[in-house]
Amino acid sequence: MKQLKERIEDHIVNISDFTATPGKGTTRLTYSPEDLQTRNYIKEKMKEYGLKVREDGFGNIFGKLEGILKDAPSVMVGSHFDSVPNGGAFDGPAGVVAALEVAALFGKNNVTPKYPLEVVALVEEEGSRFGGGLMGSRGMVGLLSDEDFRSLTDKDGITTEEAMVKIGLDPTLVRRRDPKTMKAFLELHIEQGPILEEKKIPIGVVEAIVGLTQLEVTVEGQAGHAGTTPMDRRADALVTAAKIVSQLPGLADEEGERTVVTVGRFNVFPNGANVIPDKVVFSVDIRSGKEANVLNVIEKTKSLISSFNENGIKTCVEELLYIQPKELNQGIRSLLKEKSEELQIPYCSINSGAGHDAMVFSDYTDVGMLFIPSKNGLSHCPEEWSDSKDIAKAVQIFYETAKNLTEAE
Ligand SMILES: [Zn+2]
Repeated sequence: MKQLKERIEDHIVNISDFTATPGKGTTRLTYSPEDLQTRNYIKEKMKEYGLKVREDGFGNIFGKLEGILKDAPSVMVGSHFDSVPNGGAFDGPAGVVAALEVAALFGKNNVTPKYPLEVVALVEEEGSRFGGGLMGSRGMVGLLSDEDFRSLTDKDGITTEEAMVKIGLDPTLVRRRDPKTMKAFLELHIEQGPILEEKKIPIGVVEAIVGLTQLEVTVEGQAGHAGTTPMDRRADALVTAAKIVSQLPGLADEEGERTVVTVGRFNVFPNGANVIPDKVVFSVDIRSGKEANVLNVIEKTKSLISSFNENGIKTCVEELLYIQPKELNQGIRSLLKEKSEELQIPYCSINSGAGHDAMVFSDYTDVGMLFIPSKNGLSHCPEEWSDSKDIAKAVQIFYETAKNLTEAE
């Protein structure tokens, strides 16, 4: 039997061949011919590893290792296998491959779990074909109704069900999964950022998936001639906005705990070189793994902004989006750290700045998540790369954790 790292490398290479854009990264849209090739590969490996294979009415794939207990909830391990257009070979598949190898270790070591172990490969996490994203996981837990699922179409007007049928999937299969059938969900994902690589640490134990707030700030002043209006007679919306923006990073620093603030969109009106700006509209994106941090920074941002309401300046803040941070299960986080220590694998705590299927499941079952380093922090591009050695480390940690959660003897 090949070494774990080599086996992982083989899987990644094999799966990366299933792309619609050879030589230009991985393009694997949901229910495409490349989806079918990947699906067949995953199902074949599941069977090879002694798992009972099943698909649901979304085309999510499940490979189950039965436990001693009948009809008991499963400890699920997995991730998604779709990609963005011209993406990388690791975003998604790294987690599916890790899950397959966790199951393989159960078989290889003749471990019989008390609770079933299930390898899960999810569709349409990226939303690249039907939009929205997280479709496989959201559908499974009932956050996407049958009606809404059926009405989704791709850019050519092809519906989800038509696309499924085209690659031989059965859309009449059961879609919803009772949360009572899930005992836990473990997901390995590439970090898609620079932190682990910089720290030279192979494993990040995800503490929380960050919440997201988007504010839209409007600063209004008075337009005027750039040449004839004296400096002390101006209500310059841009100068005020610039003062506000320059103070925002300080609010995040003050809050600490990896709280981040970003102004990424900035529009000046009327945007003429010789006109004093009378209006500026900009975005403020606030993220943190802890809701209290997010709420504090929102409060401080609002009061900072309103403090500029004088001398002809009028400000207004609108909250466009608020998504709560999701703290992952405390018990599983501890277990992942404990197993890393036992295996002498260095790890650190990390927050996920992006949404994942794990985030969806965290409202329905106990969820744990590991990150591995991304080379140069790159993702969603052909250069995306992670070391199979690191995936192998995650497999070992998940194997020990899964033995514990399935109460294997
Ligand atoms: Zn992903």
